[in-house]
Amino acid sequence: MKTFSRRMIIKVLGLAATIALCTPAFLVGPHAMAASNPGAAASKPPAVPAPIKVVATIAMAGDLARNIGGARVNVRNLMGEGVDPHLYKASPGDVRTLSDADMILFSGLHLEGRMSDLITRMASRKTVVQVTDTIDEKLLREPPEFAGHFDPHVWFDVSLWATAGARVRDALIAKDPASKEMYIANAEIYLKQLAELHAYAKETIATIPKAARVMVTAHDAFGYFGRAYGLEVMAIQGISTDSEASLQDINALVDVLVLKKVPAVFIESSVPRKTIDALVEGCKARGHAVKIGGELFSDAMGKDGTPEGTYVGMVLHNVDTVTEALGGKVPARKPSLPATPAAKSK
Ligand SMILES: [Zn+2]
Repeated sequence: MKTFSRRMIIKVLGLAATIALCTPAFLVGPHAMAASNPGAAASKPPAVPAPIKVVATIAMAGDLARNIGGARVNVRNLMGEGVDPHLYKASPGDVRTLSDADMILFSGLHLEGRMSDLITRMASRKTVVQVTDTIDEKLLREPPEFAGHFDPHVWFDVSLWATAGARVRDALIAKDPASKEMYIANAEIYLKQLAELHAYAKETIATIPKAARVMVTAHDAFGYFGRAYGLEVMAIQGISTDSEASLQDINALVDVLVLKKVPAVFIESSVPRKTIDALVEGCKARGHAVKIGGELFSDAMGKDGTPEGTYVGMVLHNVDTVTEALGGKVPARKPSLPATPAAKSK
């Protein structure tokens, strides 16, 4: 019995040894590997965390993340140059892009009216940030024609958009606390640039003769701009482009333009220009020559890779275009412009 047991033990041990010899190292596990090669773990470079995949609806929100997130973020915007956010519907490709994001930024206040269900759905399983949700409600416009809703075009008061910038900074810190110091430092630089831009807009618009400080555009995107920088703002269409402008709306504005002798009206990059052309024709028929003062960026930034493809560049373009067309003086000295990011397709 004893002898038999000893034989069995030898057999079992032998089998175990055979298994150990035949088992490839990768099946044994990392600890065993490290033990057999003690220097390997120490010489491995520390892992660099992958950039945070940020997807923004409008490019203005994406621009905040790009400036504050720096190398830690990879930003994609759903809506590019000339795209109207009031009418934008997400494509199946957009839904995939959003599903793949680590963080989704949207402007809110009903701007992306046709995406609200999708954004709500995404919020149940993703980090979804409304960049305007820390702006004090008392500072939001509530125009009577937009019954019960706030005016969503907050980016045209640069001081309000700076609050959106601080919101994005805090959202990035919450997502990636290890890079907190970098986000704080980047935001400090960027928010300082926005403060400079705000002061520049105020001073520049103030050079327009008082009687000519009337800004007429296709849709009512510039309410905050007018309030912040001292212009009376009028538009053919309301706060949203969702409803068609009527002939009555156009005629009512022609009356005002003739009466106030307004020298110029403006087209918008994200709205068809036909109503503005109708306005010019209407004035002409009444003996008042009004010119097209230029194209403004309203609800979309300019082309990626150009200065107007950044938020600061877009605002500078609008301020200078309006000032020149209405008889003001554009200063030669400009506020600092953040680096223009390279063109990037959607
Ligand atoms: Zn709009």
